[in-house]
Amino acid sequence: MRKFFITVAAALTLAATGCRKSADIKSDARTPNIIVILADDLGFGDVSFYGSKTISTPNIDSLARGGACFTNGYASSSTSTPSRYALLTGMYPWRDDIHILPGDAPLVISPSQETLPKMMRKAGYTTGAIGKWHLGMGNGNVDWNDTIRPGAREVGFDYSCIIAATNDRVPTVFVRDGSVVGLEKDDPIYVNYDENFEGEPTALTNPEMLRMQWAHGHQNSIVNGISRIGYMKGGTAARWVDEDMADYFAGEVKKFLAENRDRPFFLYYGLHEPHVPRAPHSRFAGTTGLGPRGDAIAEADWCVGELMNELRRLDLLDNTLIIFTSDNGPVLNDGYRDQARELAEAAGHLPAGGLRGGKYSLFDGGTHIPLCIYWKGKIEPVVSDALVCQMDLFASLADLVGGEISDTLDSRAMLPTFLGKDLTGRGELVIENQGKLGLRAGDYAYLPPYTGPATNLTGNELGNLGVYGLFDLAADPAQTRNLAETDTLTLHRIQEIFTRETDGFYRPFVEEVTLK
Ligand code: CA
Repeated sequence: MRKFFITVAAALTLAATGCRKSADIKSDARTPNIIVILADDLGFGDVSFYGSKTISTPNIDSLARGGACFTNGYASSSTSTPSRYALLTGMYPWRDDIHILPGDAPLVISPSQETLPKMMRKAGYTTGAIGKWHLGMGNGNVDWNDTIRPGAREVGFDYSCIIAATNDRVPTVFVRDGSVVGLEKDDPIYVNYDENFEGEPTALTNPEMLRMQWAHGHQNSIVNGISRIGYMKGGTAARWVDEDMADYFAGEVKKFLAENRDRPFFLYYGLHEPHVPRAPHSRFAGTTGLGPRGDAIAEADWCVGELMNELRRLDLLDNTLIIFTSDNGPVLNDGYRDQARELAEAAGHLPAGGLRGGKYSLFDGGTHIPLCIYWKGKIEPVVSDALVCQMDLFASLADLVGGEISDTLDSRAMLPTFLGKDLTGRGELVIENQGKLGLRAGDYAYLPPYTGPATNLTGNELGNLGVYGLFDLAADPAQTRNLAETDTLTLHRIQEIFTRETDGFYRPFVEEVTLK
């Protein structure tokens, strides 16, 4: 009990002091370059510095070991689009009803909206987005053969080379500054999420073309021997080869660093690993014994190493702050039969590091992710237990670079915490899974009594307990003991915080969202 009240007191103190507008804490010397590396579906237990004995991630580990490594780092949400929305806008995504997007969805961030890259740009930074996007592009009726607007540029990125959504959704092409890369004029590209184009192969009509079998939700167009979500036609020369994607984006990153080495830059690097379909380069295939998912994580770690080597080569490492994290928790079977579950179980690999749930979950494994911040010579190595959320990077980085933000954002300025100088974190954080809200407050996790299926097709638990859930994560990180009935005093206190923080947005009944 005492632990809880101390935590709340700390939270209130933070709330009273945590909303500064600009730089009262600035770095000495030059303002650093800033890089956010955002992995896709990488779990709390997938990184060796976080305790994985089955996967070795030496490059990610070097950031965690040499910087501020957070044991209570959170994404706002347990799925990609809302989580990325929170990071880039500093707003809770559920306020704006943000959900997982199909590959032809319009841009979900309003061009008039305040964003992290816009703030950085205003502070004098050149901004770039490379890799996974999944925030929509265009106005809802995209012609993929023309320049696509609005997109990353309107969100605040001077340069972008991205995939529209995910590597399992069409169109399977790279989009650079709003234009499909490598598109040939006499082979235009078309995308449809409702019906197939006549004669185009799908997993259902041409299973003999598949070199990776789908399990659920991925029975549409076949590209590179892998069936996807959604239908596409044409654009043959522009289609990516999954195995080369990591090298392609690593090359883009190196080019961006070299071109901007003489001016401050902000880079958002969205790794596509280990999201499905996991098709790592042959250099990594078979290296982990955990199948394509483990090998894709090895590939992601290599990408981090390539980035670090290039920073060293360009003599930029001393003046670059690097954030490594993941957009949501892990999933094993996310729609392809790639043996991720079988091999993880056989090896005793726990992708969520023993936390309950994973991607699509309101349990802790859905949003509790690896997060570390490295800044050579400026951040002293520290393992911090402070409760931190990616959403707070916006306001905190504004403090670092002297940027301005409005006080209407959910993002809280916590720069000393992110730099590892202050071990105090947030007192509370609303977490979200597909429109359903929960709360982390102090060491406690709170789940309202949502109804619905216990799991989805991935096998991950969604967090539909049907009764109130209250778990002490410090004593019970696996959330096996529900204290809601026995510790009603804490339950009521947490419910008060939850009501205050969700401010009327909480809906007791939410329809399950499909995986489309
Ligand atoms: Ca994700």
